[in-house]
Parts: sequence; structure tokens; C-alpha cells
Amino acid sequence: MNYRSEVHAEGPVYGTGHTAHHILGTHHTISPVLALRWLSGQALHIANRLDPDPAHSPWLPPAARQATATGPDCPTELRTWAEDRHRQRVARERIKAGHPLFVVVPDADCTYTLLACRHLPPGQTMHQCEATTPVPPLGLLFAILAGQGRALGNDLAHAPTRAHCELGHGHDGEHADHVWDWDHQPTHALWARWNNGDTPRYESLPWCETADGPQNDACTLYRDHPHPHAWALHDPGTEALLRKDHTAGGTGECQGE
Ligand SMILES: [Zn+2]
Ligand SMILES: [Zn+2]
Repeated sequence: MNYRSEVHAEGPVYGTGHTAHHILGTHHTISPVLALRWLSGQALHIANRLDPDPAHSPWLPPAARQATATGPDCPTELRTWAEDRHRQRVARERIKAGHPLFVVVPDADCTYTLLACRHLPPGQTMHQCEATTPVPPLGLLFAILAGQGRALGNDLAHAPTRAHCELGHGHDGEHADHVWDWDHQPTHALWARWNNGDTPRYESLPWCETADGPQNDACTLYRDHPHPHAWALHDPGTEALLRKDHTAGGTGECQGE
């Protein structure tokens, strides 16, 4: 699997002076959309346990709905993060580009951390194709509208402006880059396809999903792509970014397993 999400909780153990660290849950998936969907579900689950949402708790009398805590409003922060489409889109682009995502939300006596990252298996063998091409915004917008019927301005602000081929060096046929995740059809994604010197065309393709990589990694290319599968490809640019991110203060939790 190629994207990993985790939820951590850390807080003092009463009367001991120690801090306990718990992993509340982990999830692996081939899609950045599904990785964030799981993380949002976990954020709402924690928020509802800490503070049942008055809007969804008809049995609470009005007096019980007054805020009594003076500390940071952790449940509200978690709900806001989980339900903000714009922040979700930014987060998706971030983990797709290979940067780990950390959302840290302190509660009165416990700190919750939501984490998502792309998982790069060790021992990769082949260089990725280096072809790139500009992605004209209007062409991509038409392809998105044709697929999902609508597009919000905020979404498009984070659409890629340049495609980088994700196939193996020296592959046959057109170059290909995954440019858009469908909300309505997570089994497929939108790909830019192009020949050198041409403007890209767009095609909705099912995921490859072949899961024969190290640690059963699933391929994140489209079905019937030229070989090899994604787990056997090596992108020096992304790996350098990930290393930089970790040395700049990341926790290192998302290094290859
Ligand atoms: Zn290529
Ligand atoms: Zn594949």
C-alpha cells in the first residue's frame, strides 16, 4: 500500500511525571483521497468522544450545550479540519507530492496528532521517466467538469500546473501523470497523457492496484500501464524532498517500514 495514515495521542500519565504515547489507529491505502477520508473520519470520531456535537445530540438539554472548558477547543478544531474541503484538498496535494502531513491538535491534557504520508518502499530499482509538460488550466478544468459535473474555485487553485510522467524510464507509448482524484469515483482517477511536444489530453483510468510490491505495496499507476509497477520506480526528486522534510523537524514516523 502506498499511503499511510496514523492517529497518535500523547499526554501525561497522572501522578507519574511521565508522558504516554499511544497510536490510536493506522490505515494503509493506495489513494491519497482514501487516506485523508480515513483521517477525517478518525478526527470526527475523537471529536465526538471528547464532546458530543450538540447539532447531533438531540438528547442534550440546552443548558448542557454551554461551553464549560477554558482550554483549547480541541473537538471544534478537529471537526473544522475534517470538514474543510479546501484544507483537505491542500493536504491531499501535499501528501501526493511526497511531503508528510502533520495536524497537531492539543486538548486540555492530551495532544492528538493526525499524520499521513506517501510510503516509499526501499530497494527501488528503476528510474522514473523525466518527461514533463505544462498543464493548461482551461483544458484540465474542462476534463474535470466533464468527469464530475462541477469544480470549486478553491479546488482548482491546487490543481497541478505541470505534469511529470510517472512511468518508468524509456517506456512505450504516451507519458502519463495522475492529475486529479475523483470524489465520486475513487476507483478511478484523471490522468494527463501526452507525447513529447504535444499539449496533454485527459483520460479517466482505473487504478492498477496490483499489490505484489515489497510489504504488499499496491501500484499507484493506472491499469495496464507499461511495466514496471510504481513500487519499482525511483524518483530522486521526491525522495530528496522527503528527507529534507524529516530533517527539518518531522518525526520520522513515516520512513519505509
Ligand atoms: Zn514518460
Ligand atoms: Zn501497476
